[in-house]
Amino acid sequence: VGDSADYDSEVDSVCPFCGVGCQVSLKVKDGRIKYVDGIDGPANEGRLCVKGRFGFDYIHHPHRVTKPMIRRDDAPAKGLNVDPANPWTHFREATWDEALDAAASGLGRLRDQHGGKAVAGFGSAKCTNEEAYLFQKLIRQGFGHNNVDHCTRLCHASSVAALMENVGSGAVTATFNQIENADVAIVIGANPVENHPVAATYFKQFAKRGGKLIVMDPRGVGLRRFATHMLQFRPGADVALLNSIMHVIVEEGLYDQQYIDAYTENWEAEKAHLSGFAPEEMEALTGIPATTVREVARAFATAKAGMIFWGMGISQHIHGTDNSRCLISLALMCGHVGRPGTGLHPLRGQNNVQGASDAGLIPMFLPDYQPVTDDGVRSAFSEIWNSGDFSSQKGLTVTEIMDAVHDGQIRGMYILGENPAMSDPDVDHARDALAKLEHLVVQDIFVTETANYADVILPASAFAEKTGTVTNTNRQVQMGRPAVSPPGEAREDWWITVELAKRLGLPWDYKHPSEVFAEMKRGMHSFDNITWERLETQNAVTYPSLSPEDPGQAIVFGDGFPRAEGRARFAPASVIPPDETPDPDYPMILTTGRQLEHWHTGSMTRRSRVLDAVEPEANCSLHPRTLRRLGVTPGGMVRLSTRRGSIRLMARADRAVAEDMVFLPFAYVEAAANILTNPALDPYGKIPEFKFSAVRVEAVEDI
Ligand code: SF4
Repeated sequence: VGDSADYDSEVDSVCPFCGVGCQVSLKVKDGRIKYVDGIDGPANEGRLCVKGRFGFDYIHHPHRVTKPMIRRDDAPAKGLNVDPANPWTHFREATWDEALDAAASGLGRLRDQHGGKAVAGFGSAKCTNEEAYLFQKLIRQGFGHNNVDHCTRLCHASSVAALMENVGSGAVTATFNQIENADVAIVIGANPVENHPVAATYFKQFAKRGGKLIVMDPRGVGLRRFATHMLQFRPGADVALLNSIMHVIVEEGLYDQQYIDAYTENWEAEKAHLSGFAPEEMEALTGIPATTVREVARAFATAKAGMIFWGMGISQHIHGTDNSRCLISLALMCGHVGRPGTGLHPLRGQNNVQGASDAGLIPMFLPDYQPVTDDGVRSAFSEIWNSGDFSSQKGLTVTEIMDAVHDGQIRGMYILGENPAMSDPDVDHARDALAKLEHLVVQDIFVTETANYADVILPASAFAEKTGTVTNTNRQVQMGRPAVSPPGEAREDWWITVELAKRLGLPWDYKHPSEVFAEMKRGMHSFDNITWERLETQNAVTYPSLSPEDPGQAIVFGDGFPRAEGRARFAPASVIPPDETPDPDYPMILTTGRQLEHWHTGSMTRRSRVLDAVEPEANCSLHPRTLRRLGVTPGGMVRLSTRRGSIRLMARADRAVAEDMVFLPFAYVEAAANILTNPALDPYGKIPEFKFSAVRVEAVEDI
């Protein structure tokens, strides 16, 4: 932390990394960000983690794309070029007009020759709400269909599916800060110490003041040091474990009958279903002693106020929606929704994955989760957009789009700020699809692995170079402000999308993101009472906001749910085994995730000096006894192989990982985790099973 002599200007904005949405003050000297301070935002109260404080310098990295680029005529066949010294090698510089004309004519030609369904779009949860809204509008209005999605499909799509189905709303029912009013909190399938570090500080404070913190995860995640109970259950046994907890609550009559009668439906079916899940009978499956399950069930059910938090350990399974259904049922049967210190909170991953989903960047919903299948909804948006109707068919999701490229149904894509060449499961399948595209337009700040396959690259702007709103995991809509200019000829993403839309023949005429926000408000009641002017002066407003003075509702559904008759629904869930189970060829379990220092596919944090210095090398974690059995010393090299492929990387010793498991971060292109992962999907959320693949681990020579 410096003083005002150290910088020329300071600008308040929002951290670009995780869904906690910490507010920051960016200190600028000579046109560069010099350092970052935390300020008093509703989600962080001045706190920042290592990424928010030290991870900003990627925006000044020499590999920023500063000019529009077009694939060279003499470039070799499309493929991955991971030469970090020369990422631009297959491209030539172009003017904005030339690049935008090439981008639009390529996509427009495919639309005119094969129909709008031949083009799909991936938008970004790192862009603003306004940019996400414009992106989905461009695909729907410009191509007449709904093949538009983003990374929510790879993180919380199954949680949203379960919440929409059973609660009637996909967002959290209470802010994470409500934990200060709870007696008991369950954190399951989440590693907030690394993935939501500032939220984790509130969880630690809760535990330190005597709150019962129950942590459940197949890995012994960092929060275990603060937990009253750590249930390190068998991977994939989530439904069995949660049903056995609920079985005890039913068996011992600990449920809240009054709440159930007033606010829920389908209770009798749930109750009957749970009779088959006695914890003693589930022990072998879950690995958790029945006595512990009974203790946890009693603690949560008898709490005055209990909250449930979850992350990708819940959602990234073929039974991810069932996992979330169980958590919803658990909260409902105890009446732990709608009061201070109670609630359901899926910890959202990216900084604006909540906002991008709210803005309709998903193939089945228009803004505010209004179904594309509803004629009235589509006609309302056609009126707002002053255009004709578009398809009533739900579009394809992220991984389905890649399959459709292989099938020849999709021939062109517009990808904004997403990196499927690293983030998709069975990533060689995705890379082959990208290579097959007849026309690929990529809009990004770096030549990402995905941009390697582009025909046109449009240079975009980083968070500290743009104006716009973002919505965090707490439903807090916050104002982001530019502190520095985009480098070279790079432009704000909303401007680029507008210019592309105009060249595709759309009558768009936005001059500023505030005009987009005003249009969004016409179709999104969640923004009622939230105005651009309010956000400019107040920085953050939580939705729903009930009046122009209301800072927003931290807790919702105290008086019923946005479903028929105001009732939430119990959805009984049965145990479904993982898609592939270990066998003699692939005897161990692979699970993937993030590390504190690296963000997702690494495009930003691996270009951040401090963060990359702390974690410079691809690594995986194994239990020390497993390493001994394999004859590997910590720091030695191993080969991980699954039915999809194989990678070679450094192995670390970590007692938090079970003896038959490997934990693998997915930020490293040189040992890309998703070469290994299983693309099998949850049938409801269409989310891949990143958290469970059968794997073989072998020692290899260090070279
Ligand atoms: Fe940024 Fe998340 Fe860290 Fe806050 S907790 S500083 S939002 S990465």
